[in-house]
Amino acid sequence: MEQRTLRVTGRLGLHARAAANLVRIASQFHSTITLQRLDNSVEADAKSILSILMLAASRGTELRVTAEGEDAPGALNAVLGLFARDFDEPEVAKHQPRDAIKEEIRCKGLGVSAGVAMGRVLRLQDGTRDVYRAEIDGSDVERERRRFRAAVRLSRRQLEAIKERAEKELGRGHAYIFDAHLLFLEDAKLTRDVEQYIVEKRANAEWAAKVVGDRLLSIYMQINDEYLRERGSDIEDVIQRLLANLTGEGRSQPRLTEDAVIVAQDLLPSTIAELDLNHVRAIATDAGGWTSHMAIIARGLGLTAVVGLRDFYHRTRTGDQLIVDAQRGEVILNPSAASIQRYEFTSQSSSPPLPSQSSERGPVVTEDGVSIALRANIELPTEFESVKRYGACGVGLFRSEFLLSRPGLLLSEDEQFKAYRALAEMAGPDGAVVRLFDLGGETGYELSERPERNPALGLRAIRFGLKNVSVMRAQVRAILRAASFGPLRIVIPMVSDVADVMRAKQIIAEEWNTLETEVSSKPGIGAMIEIPSAVLTADKIASEVDFFELGTNDLVQYTLAVDRGNDAVSDWFRTLHPAVLFGINRSLEIARDHNIPAIVCGEMASTPAYVVLLAGMGAVDLSMTPAAIPRVRSTLAQINTVEASELARQCLECATADEVEGLVRDGFARRWPNLFSPQTLPAEPTTN
Ligand code: PEP
Ligand code: MG
Repeated sequence: MEQRTLRVTGRLGLHARAAANLVRIASQFHSTITLQRLDNSVEADAKSILSILMLAASRGTELRVTAEGEDAPGALNAVLGLFARDFDEPEVAKHQPRDAIKEEIRCKGLGVSAGVAMGRVLRLQDGTRDVYRAEIDGSDVERERRRFRAAVRLSRRQLEAIKERAEKELGRGHAYIFDAHLLFLEDAKLTRDVEQYIVEKRANAEWAAKVVGDRLLSIYMQINDEYLRERGSDIEDVIQRLLANLTGEGRSQPRLTEDAVIVAQDLLPSTIAELDLNHVRAIATDAGGWTSHMAIIARGLGLTAVVGLRDFYHRTRTGDQLIVDAQRGEVILNPSAASIQRYEFTSQSSSPPLPSQSSERGPVVTEDGVSIALRANIELPTEFESVKRYGACGVGLFRSEFLLSRPGLLLSEDEQFKAYRALAEMAGPDGAVVRLFDLGGETGYELSERPERNPALGLRAIRFGLKNVSVMRAQVRAILRAASFGPLRIVIPMVSDVADVMRAKQIIAEEWNTLETEVSSKPGIGAMIEIPSAVLTADKIASEVDFFELGTNDLVQYTLAVDRGNDAVSDWFRTLHPAVLFGINRSLEIARDHNIPAIVCGEMASTPAYVVLLAGMGAVDLSMTPAAIPRVRSTLAQINTVEASELARQCLECATADEVEGLVRDGFARRWPNLFSPQTLPAEPTTN
């Protein structure tokens, strides 16, 4: 055995190109060669690039090099020589660290969740629906391993071709990174682990590659050295290539570092549900609008978010520095020193104060004595705590589809039962309304084999349940069983008319009859009123349900035929359009006539100015993002519903959204100047 200690002297430490050269030299010897950090004993195999990079050996790190085997002396000399020659790096590469050539780039979008935040880009690729987990038979294990090896071979051929072209066009100094990619691809740490995962977990090759890749990436993202950590994006590239070659597309799902800013083309709820959002500083996406689910969740969690950035994603690399400024609806990639200084000033002076605990709870009473229930909309269990914190009257909407973290992976009845039981116990005597899975559409959980041409008008919500009855039955059973632990109600999403309601009720009744456990009272059944056909036939629906739940987000989308997640048409997404107000008013009236409650639960119910109009139309039950409750409470406590209904009446007579907004802007500012600053009212139309 031969051993020596040395110190890393290169300015960029033991980075990807240096590591690639080390692997090449080390692989010429039979001996095992290890590098061990003297400060923390972390050890690496000198023949594995992934292992070397994970040493995170920056300049100044002391290493012990050990060679063991028949040619150990020669091996040790060769390695020491390479360190002494500064890894044989070409001059051009030595003097061009990537940071030096990065320019500040600014992009405009739509700030959907307040705040200003700075951090490091973590790119999430939008390929979720193509990476699925499949259980395979023992007899198929070999086939999956062969598929994986074929994908590695194909990726290698692609990378060699790219490298050749880069060498010709850019010169050897710039093509080196593809050497590193090739070594990642063939590194036993990746290939052996993927094959082992396939065998041990009986998993399909895509899934195994994704899990192992994510693991590597998450370790990499925790490296302290900035330059080395940035190389995580190279590993990400290789994994994505492999997945693409296996499935057509793929994406990685790393665990998050402290300062991650998620950048994605579109962030699907399934992705959000999987992330540890405690570590996320902000979100920036190419797509999205005010009521897209990503925006709703970001607001719920108090995460700064800017959406609608068009082609921003392609301009970023994992590890880049980024400022997300939701106040200005802007992101700044690779900010200059001056921008960083401005950011530090802005974030200290104008970040919204964190929503504090609310001492008030239960319903709010308006000036003229009308009692209005304030409930919470909940997507993730991490939000449970906020129900108590903000004094909500239980949960008015539990978006149960967020329990499903991955397409194709439905939770078992028992797993769901545990989740609904926890919800029931947490919600207390005010209870919780569980919405049956609203799968499909924008939520990206579609379990169908083929992508739909027009998902928002496709097999979404209750339509999905009625076509996948076993999925629906398992969910219904889980809710019914959990109802022994606290008052739960069931709401049926996106019903077209009373026929959808009858079919769903039939299934619920059948499951109720098969229940063996004692449930003291049968959960009430409600219908979401969120598409125009349901509004127009609301009287028929009202006779068959225990309550209405008005989904104003979808009601705007479907009444106005405006995709709620498409920033290109966000100018047409007008919550205060008279047609939308008409739908809300009519549904509330019909609920009153039939003596059933109506909960208004879309984003409209989180916005103080809109809430006054809702109260003016007679709404007495609202459900919203928990953090909005204190604001809505204080607004409603100071208004008089008689005056609000006069304003609502005038709005209902308007012809356009502009007219309604004008009335609200002027009327509210005149009547309640202390309650509404200009920023909290609809903006003046801009003249071009
Ligand atoms: C709505 O449509 O307003 C609603 C509450 O449901 P979601 O936003 O989940 O579609
Ligand atoms: Mg909806």
